[in-house]
Amino acid sequence: MNALPPNSTIGIVGGGQLGRMSAMAAARLGYRCHILTPEADSPASQVSAGVTLGDYEDEAALRAFAAAVDVITFEFENVSAKGLELLASLKPVRPGPDVLRISQDRVVEKSFLNGAGAPTAPWRAVDSLAALETAVGELGLPSILKTARGGYDGKGQVMLRAPEDLAAAFAELGAEALVLEGFVNFACEISVVVARGLDGETVAFDVVENQHRDHILDLTLAPARIGADLALEAQDLARNVAEKLGLVGLLAVEMFVTSKGGVVVNEIAPRPHNSGHWTIDACPASQFEMHVRAVAGLPLPEASRHSDAVMKNLVGEAECAMWPEIMATPGLIGHLYGKAEARAGRKMGHVTRLFPRGALPGPFGVAAALRPL
Ligand code: AMP
Repeated sequence: MNALPPNSTIGIVGGGQLGRMSAMAAARLGYRCHILTPEADSPASQVSAGVTLGDYEDEAALRAFAAAVDVITFEFENVSAKGLELLASLKPVRPGPDVLRISQDRVVEKSFLNGAGAPTAPWRAVDSLAALETAVGELGLPSILKTARGGYDGKGQVMLRAPEDLAAAFAELGAEALVLEGFVNFACEISVVVARGLDGETVAFDVVENQHRDHILDLTLAPARIGADLALEAQDLARNVAEKLGLVGLLAVEMFVTSKGGVVVNEIAPRPHNSGHWTIDACPASQFEMHVRAVAGLPLPEASRHSDAVMKNLVGEAECAMWPEIMATPGLIGHLYGKAEARAGRKMGHVTRLFPRGALPGPFGVAAALRPL
């Protein structure tokens, strides 16, 4: 396995916080990062050696970016597969364009997952109101209508509760390819971040529990409060998906724990994930270090944790405004992403609190531990 030598340059497509934290991990390992983003002063370019300012579809920008780097990865999935294919013809792209193409489209993703033996909620591809009516007839109500492409943080999805909801939901989303998903009556939401190296070895971080507010991740509890057997099942499932994808890099697998105690996959993301931010403070090698190591062809260490952790996102202006208090509170570990403007729903930073292994507090203790938030 040919590891990228120190001082080489890793190109990151996308300028957000995932790129920022990947670049910070890369710097510690002696690499430089170069960012492709249309945004001036992006979170990732603030901490990187170089930036190509340009659109993800702009061939000249893509070529200039590729010329400046030794290997390419991405932190952002809504890059056109065509753009990534051009990059892949110029430099190694890890994970490759095929992996991105699968994760970009819920229909392709769910077909792939089911083919790989990973259970999902029952689903149907929908391209007309008639098809939606048939699909609802088969899957029942409630169910969730989602755009196949481009959705995130609950955007591009509508809950269907009654037969009268169908026409309005289709009118709202129907300009695009859609997926109808049966509603999963979940006990909790969990995720697993797995890294897969150039040599095919995989390592999986501990399973975590995710709590959302307004469709945006609010809290991650590490480890998830689930049984050991279920945790192993979830990790094995995530490793298996990474292997079947032939992925080199990082894969986050979001799952529901059903009321019957099984797991079904909600979605996958072939990049660092918000539910893995706790690993920066609670693990010897974070998800970002694993990402960099995999992309650079370095060996992957164990994905072990030295502490339990609670991670809280700082979303929007109100939570961001608590920064001075967060900084003044012993035990809170703060991370800010360098975004100038705190728009509603925007992830501005996160806070982690560590606990000795086995000492993760219950729900009321979590709130107390995160005071003043
Ligand atoms: P997504 O954008 O697919 O990650 O969905 C955002 C959130 O909506 C998830 O984290 C769940 O809380 C909820 N959700 C999505 N799909 C389903 C489903 N099939 N059944 C129940 N809840 C869902």
